[in-house]
Amino acid sequence: MPRSSDWSDLVSDVVKLTIDGREITVPKGTTILDAAAQVGIDIPAICYHPHLTANGLCRVCSVDVGGRVQAAACVTQCAEGMNVQTQSEKVQRGRRTILELLASTVDLAEAPEILALLEEYGADGERFAGGERRTAPVYDDNPFYIRDYNQCINCWRCVQVCAEDAQFTFALNFDGRGFHTQIATFDGDPMPDTTCVFCGQCVGACPTGALKPKRQALLEQGISPDEIFYQTRPKRRA
Ligand code: SF4
Repeated sequence: MPRSSDWSDLVSDVVKLTIDGREITVPKGTTILDAAAQVGIDIPAICYHPHLTANGLCRVCSVDVGGRVQAAACVTQCAEGMNVQTQSEKVQRGRRTILELLASTVDLAEAPEILALLEEYGADGERFAGGERRTAPVYDDNPFYIRDYNQCINCWRCVQVCAEDAQFTFALNFDGRGFHTQIATFDGDPMPDTTCVFCGQCVGACPTGALKPKRQALLEQGISPDEIFYQTRPKRRA
């Protein structure tokens, strides 16, 4: 039989843990990422967005939990007695390698937050130069936004925001497997033939230049606002 003090542990709604040497007590169910933020410790993340379901996909937020490195802080819940290190040498090396692999496979030129992380962690974007890159056509199939999956890091934010996290439209999903996984419409249909309502939330949630407003893309190409207006205005039906 547990002692009475053990019973109070069993029914307790909080857990006590240590993050980078700082003791903290948080409600059960709190993620390591949120607990760290409460004591002012900023854990980097790429796929995570505070208003979307966390999926632990990019693994950049991985922290050392009692000697294990690959615990994604955005989805791992705090547990009683946990000892978390967010900046150990192993953790930093893991983040550096993830960032270097990303740089070797995807065009990050329009992903300033990820480029800043590469610099912060001393990642060498050329370390895996020559490795296979994930390439895709650029989809320019509607008047509102362009999809350039050469810049896509498969963070899944656009899929989540299009689905249960916000819009409930389900126009996007994953296609392919492993290295060749990419975001796509069902059957690869052009966006106007899907359930997309062109709300633009996917564009707003995208952390890279993979999803870009059409007007922005045209302005960057040096096209004047007047020409853009005529190019993108809805056409009258006959
Ligand atoms: S298109 Fe953007 S939001 Fe969607 S998975 Fe790729 S990087 Fe993430």
